[in-house]
Amino acid sequence: MTSVGHSLVGASIGLVCLPGFKKIQNRLVFLVGFIAVASLPDWPIPGWGHYRLDISHSVIVNGGIMLGLVLGMRGLAGPTLQTYRLAVVGMLITWLSHFLLDTLYVDSSMALFRPLSDIEVSLPVPWLKTMPHVPPPFDRQILSIFWYEALTFMPFLILAAIWRVRSRSVVPGSGDGSNT
Ligand SMILES: [Zn+2]
Repeated sequence: MTSVGHSLVGASIGLVCLPGFKKIQNRLVFLVGFIAVASLPDWPIPGWGHYRLDISHSVIVNGGIMLGLVLGMRGLAGPTLQTYRLAVVGMLITWLSHFLLDTLYVDSSMALFRPLSDIEVSLPVPWLKTMPHVPPPFDRQILSIFWYEALTFMPFLILAAIWRVRSRSVVPGSGDGSNT
């Protein structure tokens, strides 16, 4: 999956989990954080990302990191973790969504369970294709791939936005605490 699909899914989940921050700036930072986490396994860090797919795209390795982070946060900032538990759960789901989306390429198969298993997972969607090269250049083929991903995942963002607006209007005067 390109960053288009990951970002749209990350923003959608972020929108659903967005705490009732009063400042728009805080909301934007929160959503950008979700978009970043949606692509976390692809981050171009040495020993990570596409340098080492067996590590960066292993649900086992990532699950261990997630567990360590949650336990660490629980020890260091338990009350904050409790207050923002929906956001934390959403963040973990966003992180995990990366692996599902990467299996959706028509020509992909991901060994997600290394080092425990080399079994490959593939859930091909006919119109989602891998990029022939990393852009730039943004040629017609790359733009077509972006376009199909946007069409596929944009509805999730629209649904999340509708849900967000409706949930805020259904409980008038419930305050910011209801969504934290
Ligand atoms: Zn990936």
